[in-house]
Amino acid sequence: MHELSIVTSIVDTIESYMKENSLTECEEIVLQIGELSDVIPEYLQACYPIAVEGTIMENTALKIEKITALAKCKNCGEEYRYIENKGACPKCKSIKREITQGKEFFIKQITAR
Ligand SMILES: [Zn+2]
Repeated sequence: MHELSIVTSIVDTIESYMKENSLTECEEIVLQIGELSDVIPEYLQACYPIAVEGTIMENTALKIEKITALAKCKNCGEEYRYIENKGACPKCKSIKREITQGKEFFIKQITAR
């Protein structure tokens, strides 16, 4: 369970953040996950309650925002949605591309007091 270890590392991050800032209660965290990230939001959401049980984040709500995957065509320069176009440029059909967005995985926001 790849996602379980991810939640564990998030808990560690939040714990040290809260210690540093003398906070005791974390109400909510917002994660941003790219469509091409190797983290599956649904799995993460599913294992979250088990992973945070008994930790500082036991009562913390989890919100996940997905980031659309974008690619830039190396042939004609077109920017397009990677998944919708199955990785091929909609203009010139080239599959030579650079992923410009969609591999992200980070904590966007922490609401704590
Ligand atoms: Zn193109």
